[in-house]
Parts: sequence; C-alpha cells; structure tokens
Amino acid sequence: MSPPENKIPPAHPAHRTAPKPPLQQPVGSLWGVGSERAAQLARLGISTVEDLFLNRPRRYEDRRHFKKISELMKGEPATARGTIVALGLKRFRHGTKSIFEIILDDGTARLHCRWWNLPFMQNYFAQGDEVFVFGRLIETKPRTMDHPETEVIESGEESFIHIARIVPIYSLTEGLPQRWLRGLTWRTLEKFESQLDSEGAQSKTPNAAQDTVLPSRGNALRMIHFPEELSDMEIARQRLALDEFIELQRQIQLRREKFETNAKALPCGGDNHLMRPFLSRLGFKLTDSQTAVLREIRADMGGTHPMRRLLQGDVGSGKTVVAACSALMAVESGCNVALMAPTEILAEQHFTNFKGWFGPLDIQVELQTSSRKAENLAASKAGMLFVGTHALFSSGFDLPKPGLVIIDEQHKFGVAQREQLVRKGNYPHVLVMTATPIPRTLGLTLYGDLDISVIDKMPAGRGKLQTFVRPADKLPKVFEFIREKISAGRQAYVVYPRVEDSGGKELKAVTAEFENLKKAFMPFKVGLLHGKLSSREKETVMAGFRANQIHVLLSTSLIEVGVDVPNATIMLIENAEQFGLAQLHQLRGRIGRGGHQSFCILISNAKNPEARKRLMILEETADGFKIAEADLKLRGPGELLGREQSGLPKFHFGNLVEDLDLIRRARDFVKSLNR
Ligand code: ADP
Ligand code: MG
Repeated sequence: MSPPENKIPPAHPAHRTAPKPPLQQPVGSLWGVGSERAAQLARLGISTVEDLFLNRPRRYEDRRHFKKISELMKGEPATARGTIVALGLKRFRHGTKSIFEIILDDGTARLHCRWWNLPFMQNYFAQGDEVFVFGRLIETKPRTMDHPETEVIESGEESFIHIARIVPIYSLTEGLPQRWLRGLTWRTLEKFESQLDSEGAQSKTPNAAQDTVLPSRGNALRMIHFPEELSDMEIARQRLALDEFIELQRQIQLRREKFETNAKALPCGGDNHLMRPFLSRLGFKLTDSQTAVLREIRADMGGTHPMRRLLQGDVGSGKTVVAACSALMAVESGCNVALMAPTEILAEQHFTNFKGWFGPLDIQVELQTSSRKAENLAASKAGMLFVGTHALFSSGFDLPKPGLVIIDEQHKFGVAQREQLVRKGNYPHVLVMTATPIPRTLGLTLYGDLDISVIDKMPAGRGKLQTFVRPADKLPKVFEFIREKISAGRQAYVVYPRVEDSGGKELKAVTAEFENLKKAFMPFKVGLLHGKLSSREKETVMAGFRANQIHVLLSTSLIEVGVDVPNATIMLIENAEQFGLAQLHQLRGRIGRGGHQSFCILISNAKNPEARKRLMILEETADGFKIAEADLKLRGPGELLGREQSGLPKFHFGNLVEDLDLIRRARDFVKSLNR
C-alpha cells in the first residue's frame, strides 16, 4: 500500500547497508524468476516478495466441485473440465477473420469453446489435452462458450496446487501464464512460512492470540491465495484490510504527534469588541448549530496549540458567517486572517460579502486571485483579512502575523495543498470548511488528523425546495414554468453539463444553448458563464445576476460551489445523468437560500434505468449525508472527493465503503499502542 506521505529515506548511511528484510527482497532473486519473468511481474506492480503476497487474486475457481458438461446451464458462469477431442482454426473473409475452436468431452457431453480473431490461440492446445474452462454457455445446441478462460492440465504437475482445490485466478500480463504465477506464489509462501507473521509494521497488529475473530497475518496471506473454504477469502481479506487501515492510522497518528509537539500558534480567542457590533448588524440570529460550532472554534483558537478543525455543514447551512466570526476572533486578537476559495467567482463573492461586513468595523479586506493583485499584500499591519484563490498562496505570499487560515470548500483542494498551506510561515489556526458530507469511513481516514464540527440544522425561514426528474420532451413546459417565476420576480440557473470548460466544440454547444435560451425567455435577460470567459467578464455577469438585472444564468458547473444569490429559486440541470449525485446536490444548494419556494428540475433522457434510479435519490432526499453515502457506494471515493484528492492510499484489501468497523478497530488499536 502506498502511504499518504512520501517516506523520507533514512539519512544515516548505516541504514543503507543494512540487509533488506526478507519480504522486501526483489522477486527476481527467487528461484525460477529470470529477468523476463521479473519484467512481466513488474508490469503487474510486483517487484518484491511482499508485493507477490499482496497480489490479490482477481477471482477464485472451486476445482473441487466443477460441473459436468451436461449440467452446464445457459448464461451461468461455471467451471468444467474435459479432454480435447477435436480442434481447428477456420479463416474467412479472405483470411482477415477467424474462429478457433476446441471441442471438449468429459464423458457426459461435449463443449465447444470458440475464440474469434485470435488465431494464435491454436498454439496453446493439442488434441488429448486435459483442460479447465471457465465461462458461460451462450448456446446449448451445441453447448458453446465464447472466449472462456482456460488452463491446460499438465501431467505430473503439482495437482494439489492447481487442481483438486479452490484455486486463485490472478490478473495477468502478456506472456505470463496463470499456473506459473500460481505455482510461484505457492512455493514462495512455503519458503517464507516462518517470516510471514513476524515482519515489519504488521508485526504490531493484533494477531490471532488477541483477536479471536481474524486469523494471523501469515494465515491470512495463505488463505487469500489458497483458501480451504470459500468463506476463508472474506476472513482473510478483512485481516489484510485491517493491517492496511492500521498502517494508515499510524501515519495519521505520526503526523499528528509531530505537529503537536512542534507547533505553536498565536492565541486568537478574541474579546468580542468587533463580534458584538457585527452580530447586531447582521440582520439574522445565528442558529444554535452555528453558535455551538463557534464555541468549539473559540476554545481551540484561544490556546497556543494550533487549531486543525473541519467544519462540515450541508449546502446553505451558513458556514460563511461562522468563518466571519472566526476571522473576527483573530482580528480582535491583533492577528491576520487568510480565506481561500477554490474558484475566482467564489473568492470575489467572499470579498464582496466580507467587505460589506467588515468595512463598517474598520477592518481592511484585500483580494488576490490570478487576475487581481491585492494592493496591500505586503502590509505588515495587523488585523487584516486576505481573500484569495490558491493564487494567493502560490504567489509566495507569507501571511504576516498569521492568526487563522480558512479554507472554503475544502473538498476542492487536495490534501497535499492543505498541508502546503498549513506549513506556510508560522503555524496559524486552520479552519477547513466543506459541504460534502463525509461518510464516516472517510472521516476516520482522510480527515483522521482533523477535529470535526458539524452544523446540523439549516437556518429557519427557508422556503421549501422541491426536486423533479423530467425527460427532455418536458422542456417547453419547464420553460413556461420558469417564465412564470421570473415574472413574479425570481431568478433561475440553467446548468449545462459541459463540465470541463475545455473550449472548442463544448464551448460552441454552450453558446448555441445560450442563443436558444435567449429566444425562449424573451424579453427577460439571460447571462452566460463559463470557464473561458475572462475574470472581468465573469465578474460582470455575476454582478448582473446578483443585482437581478440578469434573470436567467446559463452556466457550466462553474457555479457548483459557494455561489449565494438568495433570490434565485430555480435550478434547471440538463443531461443531469452526467453529474455525480454529490455534485448535483451542490448545484441544487445554490437555490433554496431565501424565503421563497424553490424548484430543482433535473432533465434526463437516460434510458438506463440505473441512471434514472440514481437521480430519483435526489427527488427523495435533501439529506446531503445520505446522498454522499449513496454516491460513495455508486461511484467510489475518488469520484466523491474529486480527482484532486491525492491523500488517500490505494488499498489492496480495504474497502472504504464497507469497512467502517475495521477502520474503527484500526484506529482504536493504534490509539491503544500509544498509551
Ligand atoms: P454555505 O454553508 O453553503 O456556505 P452560506 O454561508 O452561503 O452557506 O449561507 C447561505 C445563506 O444563508 C446566506 O445567504 C446566509 O446569509 C444565510 N444565513 C446564514 N446563517 C443564517 C442564519 N442563522 N439565519 C438566516 N440566514 C442565514
Ligand atoms: Mg459556502
């Protein structure tokens, strides 16, 4: 497994000459592995003995109970065994196409196995060979399988490895035979028998003696490759997954310890002299949720130990105000604050909001993005707020008197970026905010080094938000509905799924859609927003929309995060099936922010019932947590967290969707080690 941080190689020369632990030995040093085989294994990511052991079988075949050919059922994947009684290659279409066929007989019936356009398959079989086949019957008269997986049984071979047992089937690469890899794995497991339980980080994991449920690591490795029973595979997987999670938790723990012993922060508890006038002028009362979170933040920031806190709150729950109050605490304490947003649009919006809030309090607010340079960046003055995109920090900017760094929409940044930020200058307090509810498994892994606060109640007085999934032929009706709402004073977003804003053809499509919408909504005004516009153009469009001079805003998914225009009550998303659920939930979060009733309309022509079912989840629930869990199950953690998330290691055995229990055990175990 790859650790979330690069390991720094030990500097002491003695370490370099120390003999390698046996499992770190290169596979090339094993008997029977020449340079060609070693290169093939390397293509599968196997370069050490340990890699070989951690090479998880793709599937298993129970060769104790294979089917009689006469019992094979159409459509059902199954293993059978037989002797080749006939074989041949047929070419047609002037030799450009071919079928190679073998006919197996096991005494009960005959089975035809065919390979299309793979003439070299004929080199692998001979009349009289005994063959295992795995596949599904596509026809019963005659019984036929196309492109089954096969393995020829060689006489005199170790039948106890390849035949009368449950055998592992591995992923292969060109030229590497299944049974060769299986044999190597078997022999190597035997050879390293005595080291399997005793080596490396894993020796500290609870073994069978303490853990009555799971086998020792050594047994688990044997079981994952050569299970005795079908149930062994899952038990072994769990044990090896536990080791992976323990390793990850140890890294998290180490990072935390290093940080806790070294880092000092400026105390930033504040004295309320700015907070009081801010709150009285705000125009609404903080919710109990917001107040509770602020209490946690104040307790952290009041100390000299730097805060590391994740603020989680569904879209529209009011995280920005909490950020503002936290910033005030730092400013009151004479420190500076930086606020980082993932997009320019959002940075601009924060800049406008915070200037409105902080201007009357005589707090200077500066904005820096890639297109706008702050005037006062080098100011050594205390008590300022710097708003920016990542450009703020990549410009080499060092926050003077760093009290607090706030990162909005944390999920849009990578873990590496987070670390980089935090290492800048002295140690500021850090508040990261995210609207992506984190399924608990990820909370304990990805964010294992952060304390978590949650805003779990929405502000009162919000209008109802309803969501509908509709086919594209309903669009005229939908447009009519939108016109009605605009006549009543409301505004609408129309989101077009050209997600990447990569220009070219996609830009043309958005522009064409723009012309259509302009006609459809005459005489109301339609604005267009996409990634190819200059910053100034984007700003102008957003300002027009905010001022209700633009009534319909056509946009790419650019507006996904953070944008806050409470008068907009309609979100129309075309080709909605092209988005992930969490992303749709974010987009939907742009509406339902004011007192009026809001409507989210998802247009989808997806014929695929799965895709429709997925979208229906949004019709049914507004609970971001449920949506995130559904998305995690459907699309995996990479999609949910965005491609940027570089912090998660690849697990061979661990499963972030299913293994909450193991992750908890790993964390408790690592904690107990340190007591
Ligand atoms: P998010 O958590 O998605 O960042 P915002 O901070 O943008 O949400 O808040 C959404 C809207 O709710 C904003 O218009 C904000 O002014 C408003 N808001 C925040 N807190 C409250 C509150 N306690 N009462 C009423 N409205 C609030
Ligand atoms: Mg926000």
